[in-house]
Amino acid sequence: MTVPFIDLKPQYETIRAQCEPKLHEIAASQYFVLGPEVAAFENEVGAYLGVQHGVGCSSGSDALLLALMALDLTPGDQVLCPSWTFFATAGAISRLGLEPVFVDIDPVTYNMCPQATEAALATCSRAKALLPVHIYGLPADVDAFLQIGQRHNLPVIEDCAQSIGAKDATGAMTGTRCTMGTWSFFPTKNLGCFGDGGLVSANDSRLGEYLRMARVHGSKQRYVHEFVGVNARLDALQAAILRIKLPHLERWHSARIANADAYDSIFRKAGARCTSCAWDDASLPLRFPWRPAAPARAIVNQYVLRVPAAIRDETREHMKERGISTEIYYPIPLHLQQCWAHLGQGIGSLPETERAANETIALPIFPELGMERLRYVAETLVQFVESKSRACAAAS
Ligand SMILES: *Cc1c(COP(=O)(O)O)cnc(C)c1O
Repeated sequence: MTVPFIDLKPQYETIRAQCEPKLHEIAASQYFVLGPEVAAFENEVGAYLGVQHGVGCSSGSDALLLALMALDLTPGDQVLCPSWTFFATAGAISRLGLEPVFVDIDPVTYNMCPQATEAALATCSRAKALLPVHIYGLPADVDAFLQIGQRHNLPVIEDCAQSIGAKDATGAMTGTRCTMGTWSFFPTKNLGCFGDGGLVSANDSRLGEYLRMARVHGSKQRYVHEFVGVNARLDALQAAILRIKLPHLERWHSARIANADAYDSIFRKAGARCTSCAWDDASLPLRFPWRPAAPARAIVNQYVLRVPAAIRDETREHMKERGISTEIYYPIPLHLQQCWAHLGQGIGSLPETERAANETIALPIFPELGMERLRYVAETLVQFVESKSRACAAAS
């Protein structure tokens, strides 16, 4: 049996009949950039999230750029963010001449650790904003970051590229309670378009207006520019596809959550425990991912588990030989990337992040995976880890 890491085609088949006439309609209209489809999508996704302003833009990376521009910081100012994230989170910071300060993760949630954030702030002289990420669709501790932000007078931007529909400990959607939220509609996110797309969310009307202008070269009225912005517009075609997909999103979340439940239960039965447990016990040396209890909700954009570092690569190789694709998110943490070597956060500076880079494996979790393939993935993994069990115990 072959199991791809992700396959977008079966999902498309379920909406093809809705998409094809819409694509033809847009082609016939020849109206491609912003316009009524984008405005309608902004209203609909704003209502889904429960946020005043949704400003569509060209990608999740540009959403981060626009949100940081809206803070009106000065080059050299520092923005605290995790190192355990996709490149774009910190790339946007550096692109604006700001300086990322990488903070370690909580090893259970994989999210930027509030205590480590406080500790990092104590050593920063120019900290001006916090940029936590809701990684894998697991909600970060929004309340803790709001409190830290209040104590130090720092705005908080939430990178929600992986977390549309995830809920924090109060039951509110991620990306709705802080200064701004940034979103990606890259095809592999839970809500994906037919290319690149993104959104910035805000409740403050001044920010909403700034963002709407910033995405069209700082302009409200054509050829009148109030400040220097960028070209970061959302296409009508992408908005139209997103409008078709949005009403299906909760069903797709449920399917991912059901897949995660099924993985958890197979691993638990085999003797594995949750990521919140240490290695030093007699259980299977595999840790399935932690998920928060209601009213919080994880939307499982990725299902990431841990095995001991000594057998991680071998495990992936074994699964590959049996037709199963897995991934590592992320093989090289951002603080160890060449482009940020000058910041001096070298090897050993963020131990939990570095440990995660050596221990984690992401399994296929897409909604249409199906129980037969899922069971094959889980059982192949369990058998291999069991066979390695003695080696694991020795390595840990
Ligand atoms: C995908 C992603 C982005 C960037 O989104 P694009 O739409 O690909 O530019 C930013 N941050 C995180 C955490 C992501 O996963």
